[in-house]
Amino acid sequence: MKSMQTKERTRLYRILMGAGILAVLLVCVAIYLGFSTSRYMKGIIRDQFNDEQLALARAAAQRIESTLRNAMTDLVLLNSLPAIQYCDMDAYEVLLLSTLPVLRRDCIVEIRRVDREGNTLFVANEEGIGMKHLGLRHREAGAFLSWAADVGNRGRIMGTGTRARDPASDRRVILMDLIIPTYEDATDAKRPHASHRFSGYLKGIVNVTELLQQFMPSIRSGKTGYAWVLDASGNFLYHPESIFVGENAFEARSNRNPNISFAKINEIQRNEMLRGNEGKGTYFSGWHREVVEPMEKLLAFSPVRIQGPYVDYVWSVAVVAPAEEIEGIVASVYGRQIFLEGIVIFIILTGSVMVLLHELRWSTILENEVALKTDDIRRYSLELERSEAKYRSLVESADDLIFTLDRNGCIRTGNRQMLQFFGLSPEELPGRELKALLPGTQADEQLIYIGRALETGEPQRMETRFPISSEEIWFNIHYVPIRGEGGDEDLVLCVARDITDTKSLERQLINTEKLASLGTLAAGVAHEINNPLGIMLGFCDLLLERMEPGTMEYSDLKTIERHGLHCRSIVERLLSFARMGEDSEELCDLNSNVEDILAVVKHTLDMNKIRLVFSQEAGPLIVRGGCKDVQQVLLNLINNAVYAMDGEGILTVLTRKSRKAGFAEVVVSDTGCGIKKEYREKIFDPFFTTKKVGDGTGLGLSVSYGIIGKHGGTIEFESFTDEEKPGQSGTTFRILLPMADEETVGDESFRCPSDASGFEG
Ligand code: ADP
Repeated sequence: MKSMQTKERTRLYRILMGAGILAVLLVCVAIYLGFSTSRYMKGIIRDQFNDEQLALARAAAQRIESTLRNAMTDLVLLNSLPAIQYCDMDAYEVLLLSTLPVLRRDCIVEIRRVDREGNTLFVANEEGIGMKHLGLRHREAGAFLSWAADVGNRGRIMGTGTRARDPASDRRVILMDLIIPTYEDATDAKRPHASHRFSGYLKGIVNVTELLQQFMPSIRSGKTGYAWVLDASGNFLYHPESIFVGENAFEARSNRNPNISFAKINEIQRNEMLRGNEGKGTYFSGWHREVVEPMEKLLAFSPVRIQGPYVDYVWSVAVVAPAEEIEGIVASVYGRQIFLEGIVIFIILTGSVMVLLHELRWSTILENEVALKTDDIRRYSLELERSEAKYRSLVESADDLIFTLDRNGCIRTGNRQMLQFFGLSPEELPGRELKALLPGTQADEQLIYIGRALETGEPQRMETRFPISSEEIWFNIHYVPIRGEGGDEDLVLCVARDITDTKSLERQLINTEKLASLGTLAAGVAHEINNPLGIMLGFCDLLLERMEPGTMEYSDLKTIERHGLHCRSIVERLLSFARMGEDSEELCDLNSNVEDILAVVKHTLDMNKIRLVFSQEAGPLIVRGGCKDVQQVLLNLINNAVYAMDGEGILTVLTRKSRKAGFAEVVVSDTGCGIKKEYREKIFDPFFTTKKVGDGTGLGLSVSYGIIGKHGGTIEFESFTDEEKPGQSGTTFRILLPMADEETVGDESFRCPSDASGFEG
């Protein structure tokens, strides 16, 4: 568990480390991309911004040009009037009064008419029409007149350079003159025929400052960017900072801040702006509006062209804005973007780490659970395996036949005993039908019980007898229904126990009890008959003593005596049978007694052509039992064997120590006709005989049974008729007698004096 926690912590540490490194890397990449993009975007935006500034400058320049053009057009219109052309003093006063407000809108603050001699004919301005004050012969500048007098300039308008209205005190109001050559081309009622003579010129004075003030202040580039205008000499015609107006741009900047190099703007002014070019650029300045500090400015400029006397005058409108302002916007946009990216990365990473941690926690919990469950399962399966093995070995080693079958009697599984019993291999058993293993009626009987067990769900018991080959085997069969679960079929567990031995014991017990009660009866009857029989024989003896031998009476008495003695022999036998429960302390050597009896019957065997096969245990076999009793039993068995073989056969007699500890056995086996099945349960019954009348009394085996039982032994037999074992019929009797303890045996001789001939068969 501890190692698992350490493992988990290491994994956690690794994940956090990984996430941290990834986060740093991603943030670095985001910052790098942000910076490189922002730099690139800065370039693009600066360019775009300057394009926009250029458009502003161009628009401003065009507006200035168009305002000047309007002024010129109005002047041309005025100049085309006959009153102006012919200097009709009476007419132009009224004319000017009505025209001046119109010209005023064009920022023409004054109109002068100069005749071909250079005399000013009138001056019209805000103060009024000043012709009377000026006088007719007031001379105007000769340069304009000579330009106007040039026929080549007929129809043209000349714009002069700019000048301060009051150069001495205020250079900030700047004026410009517009000169139009005047010819007497018009006709009216007074002058129906135009002379077309040169008649001087008309001059309009434009207030450039006022003109520019109309729209220049409103030009705004970006947040704080503004526009300024230079004239052809490099003087500021307009600047938002009015101190610059009228000042020379090349000098004014250096004068304001000598520490800054204005080489760049001076160069642009000189090479581009004053040459009437349009363009964009950047330069360094030391101020912008209220801000005073070194800064880079973006600049775009566009020319305003004014026709001059010999060359065109060029003004230049410039629009400027601090680069920082633009970059600031880009930087703030990208800064925000990077910040947002950072937040998104952070959120994603935090989320991922949280999910990972959560998952890790869960997987660890699950791993622990799985490990515990796996251990449990392993343990349970081991236990299960062990218990299965135990039960399998129990089932396999059981003496019972244990097997399962379905309701049709088809065998599914079976233990080793089952296989052995039917002589099948483990592969052959499953699937075998019960009907194929048992005779038809037997199988049907079993199927009834199997069906009943499955229908009632109750175990079923039965006892049945199977004739297997020549034997009969008794089975106690127990059928237990096994309910199939989850689709499994219902089966029946069958435990069949071999109870043949129990049955035989049962039979023996019944026999013993039967014989015991018969013994009691026989003893009573024998006792009652014995006394009168003794009296009868006694009186018969007395009468015989009195009779003459050879007489009829003597012979009759002898017959009575013979039959009386036969009766006494039967009574004695009955009494010996009745004495079977009595204890006996006698001992005898089985081997020597068997030898003695065989010696007695040797002649009879030879007579009947019966071959004797005898084998005995080496050394004496001292058993509990009287010699006479043992010899009587052996003689009975041999007589029966001889009778059963009826003239020919093999008699086998053998003695040996029994496999049953403490017992010796003698086996008498013949190749006779065998005992019929139906007689086998009766042969030990007194008076049961199959022999002809006079050949047997039916007491031989019952007396033998009593004798052996009296000495604590047993007598059992096995017999086959010719029908059961063709050509191998015969009967084998096996007598077991308890052996005497070695201490009690001593050196005694346990051989009986051989008077076996006295026994009756
Ligand atoms: P008995 O010899 O007088 O008939 P037993 O009690 O000795 O009386 O025998 C009873 C019966 O058992 C016999 O009649 C015979 O049918 C049968 N029996 C006994 N021993 C044998 C044997 N060895 N072979 C065939 N049958 C036998």
